[in-house]
Amino acid sequence: MEPRDLSANSPYVPGRGIEEVARELGLDPDDLVKLSSNENPHGPSPDAVAAVESAASDLDVYPTTSHADLTEKLASTWDVTPEQVWVSPGADGAIDYLHRAMLDPGDEILVPEPGFAYYSMSARYVHGESSTYDLSKAENFEQTAENLLDAYDGERVVYLTSPHNPTGSEFPREELVSLLDSMADHTLVVVDEAYGEYAEQPSAIDLLDDHDNLAVLRTFSKAYGLAGLRIGYGVVPESWADAYARVNTPFAANELACRAALAALDDDDHVEKSVESARWAREYLYENLDAPTWESAGNFVLAEVGDASAVADACQREGVIVRDCSSFGLPECIRISCGTEAQTKRAVETLNRVLTEAKA
Ligand SMILES: *Cc1c(COP(=O)(O)O)cnc(C)c1O
Repeated sequence: MEPRDLSANSPYVPGRGIEEVARELGLDPDDLVKLSSNENPHGPSPDAVAAVESAASDLDVYPTTSHADLTEKLASTWDVTPEQVWVSPGADGAIDYLHRAMLDPGDEILVPEPGFAYYSMSARYVHGESSTYDLSKAENFEQTAENLLDAYDGERVVYLTSPHNPTGSEFPREELVSLLDSMADHTLVVVDEAYGEYAEQPSAIDLLDDHDNLAVLRTFSKAYGLAGLRIGYGVVPESWADAYARVNTPFAANELACRAALAALDDDDHVEKSVESARWAREYLYENLDAPTWESAGNFVLAEVGDASAVADACQREGVIVRDCSSFGLPECIRISCGTEAQTKRAVETLNRVLTEAKA
């Protein structure tokens, strides 16, 4: 017995967990600072935690009411119909649903390079292919319609990430509008707003009123601090929103996740605090890190440090975990997630020491 030929599928390699690193280094997990996965350093909203605790005794039922309630609430938040909200296990789940809805075998997607690995992985699962457009470091990873259109060759789905991971750059709204108007009729533009809460620019969701070739992804994993529960959603145009019923995995967004997301949506203070703290940390990193950085609209900052793998290893030995961006095709860059004030200061101090030692 063998699975089908999976040689073209690359395995997903997650950032390493704090427990795992602590065990390897023989350190107490509490002494480690993990700034490698863009998680919320303030944790989840206490209201979300309370919602999970009180739903814990209802685990015997399938999540139908909670799923419907979350869908309704998101629809009213964004002023769209409930049908347009595709609730999913993480935004990753919504990527799968869009591919199931759009891709025939052999159809292509177009994705940014460097960029988020899961777009292409997910396309492969449904026998799709992917090609890339380059965001150039020499041009500060600037995102423009023209740059994307240079690489565009009629692909079925085109991805843009705004704010972009790992660079932090945004796709300006007027550029997006011009892109939507330039695509062939069969091409869907997916705007991944996993870090949308941290940006100043408004969501692209309101552009759905006038464009049926756009889908927008959002998640509770980042600013809402619910990464461990796996809950996110896509927002799609009304004209083909009913495809959800034919492509979603039944009950994939679980009861605890839906309840926690509902509670989190009511806790504005928690999101505001998370966003303010990330904005502070970005500025602190730009100003105090002894390495060139790029301006970021997300909850992380990309920095050029020379040998990223060596620098990340050296920091890790001192208990600070950052993301080596070699796997993104940027072997000279690391990505530092925005921590609490204390975590961010410690990360900068550690990195600066490591960078000085590397030069000596
Ligand atoms: C984190 C992230 C996501 C979504 O993650 P989920 O946990 O699946 O919601 C999507 N896109 C990008 C670019 C991300 O960084």
